[in-house]
Amino acid sequence: MVNHIFEFELHKFGDILVFCTKCGTENPVDAKYCAGCGSMLVQTQTTTKTPEKTLKEETKEKSKRKDPWVAVILNIVIAGLGMAYIGRYAKAVLSFIIVWICGTISVLIFNNVFILAMVGYIFIIAWTYDEAKKYNEKLG
Ligand SMILES: [Zn+2]
Repeated sequence: MVNHIFEFELHKFGDILVFCTKCGTENPVDAKYCAGCGSMLVQTQTTTKTPEKTLKEETKEKSKRKDPWVAVILNIVIAGLGMAYIGRYAKAVLSFIIVWICGTISVLIFNNVFILAMVGYIFIIAWTYDEAKKYNEKLG
């Protein structure tokens, strides 16, 4: 009777069960011989999936996400810094060069660095925002 209750609880929580390898009968965990066919039992542990682990990994992935607006603000501080923030170092250098060239052309044409530098800035900010969004999409 005690054995019977024990078995029921194991079923309920999906913990440890002894399965007969010959006839498949479920036996109490302390059973040495099968109740169904009488052969010797090998103890097997039914492993339950741990959703905790996948949940932890998920939150870890989410923490890797970068805020596109932080990238935009960093780009305003220093041209290309937003790209560096999301790990796009080649594009960070390219962004800086774009703004620098725009500024240089602006000086030559308008004798004012800001006119075309601002155009370059707007371009790299939009580009960085787009790249940051792509970066987050890759993480899922
Ligand atoms: Zn058996």
